[in-house]
Amino acid sequence: MSVSRLLLVGSLGFLTFSQLPAADESVPAVENNKPATPLAFSWVHVDGPYVALTFDDGPSAKLTPKLLDLLAARQIKVTFFVIGQNVAENPEVVARAAREGHEIGNHSWSHPNLAKMSDEAVRRELQKTDEAIRSATGNRPTLLRPPYGSITTREKKWIANEFGYKIILWDVDPLDWKRPGSTVVCNRIVRNTRAGSIILAHDIHPGTIEAMPATIDQLQSKGFKFVTVSQLISMAVPETPKPVESKRGHTPTTGHPASPGSTVNDRPTHSISSPSPNG
Ligand SMILES: [Zn+2]
Repeated sequence: MSVSRLLLVGSLGFLTFSQLPAADESVPAVENNKPATPLAFSWVHVDGPYVALTFDDGPSAKLTPKLLDLLAARQIKVTFFVIGQNVAENPEVVARAAREGHEIGNHSWSHPNLAKMSDEAVRRELQKTDEAIRSATGNRPTLLRPPYGSITTREKKWIANEFGYKIILWDVDPLDWKRPGSTVVCNRIVRNTRAGSIILAHDIHPGTIEAMPATIDQLQSKGFKFVTVSQLISMAVPETPKPVESKRGHTPTTGHPASPGSTVNDRPTHSISSPSPNG
């Protein structure tokens, strides 16, 4: 393999390095004979062209309402993973998002690396945000996206037990926090989205908001339909073993082929326990 080929594979791999199995951790369920309950999702195996758009780190007093306007015009529901201290500053923005049918998830109070904190400190981060969301919307969140996607397996388990949260990661990452421009953000999302994808974006960057009309239009023209993360999870169907696909389809399929940059059969299986710059 040439150096340039290696570099290409490497850079593409970086774009989608966070691609993980749909459920990378499970609660053992040997005693009650029930199927294992997934603790974490980076995508969902669904029987239809459904995807979830997610927006982290808001609400932004200026940008989130712009996003809500364009989502309302297109009648699209998304999921916001909000930072508690931003909710406290802009509760009316979160209230509007919930009122308009969007899902609100917990993204911690101050965006720390949960994997490096004590349980007590993590608990405070999550509890304060849970309360801020409930105060703004009237409802408790049921989803957590850990900042940077960083969380230990042990934390996933006790947080699921104590808060009832599902841990939501992502499989499509346009690296919009680097502010590469709206066209690049759009192209990266459209190129990498599959049926069942959970798409990561941030409603605190102007270019991300600017990218959304074209991104939504192009995904819809490819046949994708937008749902909230909880709706996507509720559509999950069991994965059945099938021959490894070596080529990607050009239309939404129910499968979840290997990502570009990965070779067949090498769907990444690492667990996210160290911080990445995103999330
Ligand atoms: Zn974040």
